[in-house]
Amino acid sequence: MTRHDHWIGGKTVRPASGAYLPTVDPATRAPGAEVAAGSASDVDLAVAAASAAQPRWARLPAAERSAVLHRIADAVEAHADELAELERECTGKVPAQLRMEVESSAAYFRYYAGILRAHSGRTIDLGDGNHTYTRLEPYGVVAVITPWNLPLNQACRALAPALAVGNAVVAKPSEFTSASTLLLARLATEAGLPDGLLNVVAGTGRAVGTPLAAHPAVRRIAFTGSVATGRQLAAIAADRLIPVTLELGGKSPVVVFADAELDRAVAAAAGAVAANAGQVCSATTRLLVEASVHDEVVERVSESVTRLEPGVHFGPMVTEAQYRKVLGHFADAAAEGLVPATGGAAYEDGPAARGFYVRPTVYAGVPRWARLAREEVFGPVLVTMPFADEDQALALANDTDYGLAAAVWSGDVARGLRLAERIDAGQVAVNGGALTIETPFGGFKQSGHGREKGIEALHEYAQTKTVSLALR
Ligand code: ADP
Repeated sequence: MTRHDHWIGGKTVRPASGAYLPTVDPATRAPGAEVAAGSASDVDLAVAAASAAQPRWARLPAAERSAVLHRIADAVEAHADELAELERECTGKVPAQLRMEVESSAAYFRYYAGILRAHSGRTIDLGDGNHTYTRLEPYGVVAVITPWNLPLNQACRALAPALAVGNAVVAKPSEFTSASTLLLARLATEAGLPDGLLNVVAGTGRAVGTPLAAHPAVRRIAFTGSVATGRQLAAIAADRLIPVTLELGGKSPVVVFADAELDRAVAAAAGAVAANAGQVCSATTRLLVEASVHDEVVERVSESVTRLEPGVHFGPMVTEAQYRKVLGHFADAAAEGLVPATGGAAYEDGPAARGFYVRPTVYAGVPRWARLAREEVFGPVLVTMPFADEDQALALANDTDYGLAAAVWSGDVARGLRLAERIDAGQVAVNGGALTIETPFGGFKQSGHGREKGIEALHEYAQTKTVSLALR
């Protein structure tokens, strides 16, 4: 049985508890590797290692930190297959998805290695009697707590900018999916990241996440996960008066007008179901369609997702709890009298029945008050609603507690932009516009606050200091 230990101070460390947690391959339900069951004393060790290493790292010239980040990116690329395999073992993801996630994990280090050398403070003109400027200074030790849906990717999204500006990190991956983050830390050490700058403590949220967030030497928290946990961590951060980035859920709309290029809009709507089996917080899962083409679009999207094959185009639900949660949504929908246009069930036979696979699902014409229309399902499930005009489209798009992402499709580009500016969401793609590492990512409303990606994330992990010198 493979066992994954913590990575603390540049080496593997066994859990103080001596205990390990089981994992399963969600594609087959076969038992997988065991992962260290961390506790508060492991957290203490990791935070001490981080605190000791951080000041020297922060004093290095940006170019030297940048060079190390580039070497980490090289190492991720060189070990892409190994990282992907570790990720596959505990998530069941399909190869194309794994490839994309590992590539973008490396790209985070590459991107922040680059902008680190070009982006720093600014000078402020107070006249010729002063020399006044700002510096981006690190917080010190940053806690990075990540979920199971995009494990390595979400870790790198936070680690790269946090390390870039001179912080040390203690990462707490999900206990279901820790292996890739642990290997990343080893690779980073081998690539020349000084010991103690990236520590990974495995274990549950309660046993590791809470003491980590509450540790007096942790000066900032970056969290990706559920609203409920985000609220708990925000309470700890509020009590300690430290900043926290919350990247929480979503129920993002995709708005399709009758004059849109329907082929592309249909493909994008179906793509949101397939990508990571809908286990993406920014997935556009509310398909709002202009009434005159609603039925046609629903039919085409349903046809398209029905052709998706489990294990080929999409993976299983990553955890059993998530699998049961999605099936619970289907049961509630049935109790509310909703009938799916396609899907709405698990697989009863064949290889997919062995794993936590859920059929790609579309519920058409769902009332706005239905649970399925309001709550994040986090599975391959789309709900659709018709709208009469632009005003109603906007009202429906904003009729949610969340505000992470949105998409608009229209042949009238001005209308597309008009809606983009009025939808309450952190990022809006019009007619398939790209959203990448360069584009800031984060929520409005209950989707959280703070921004990952882009130059904005560099500022999230830095505190601005002003220095002013009198020249006379
Ligand atoms: P999900 O439903 O996506 O698993 P969670 O919010 O439960 O979302 O988990 C996201 C991350 O937060 C995981 O690493 C998990 O272990 C951690 N976590 C869960 N509960 C807590 C908690 N009370 N305090 C700190 N971290 C937690």
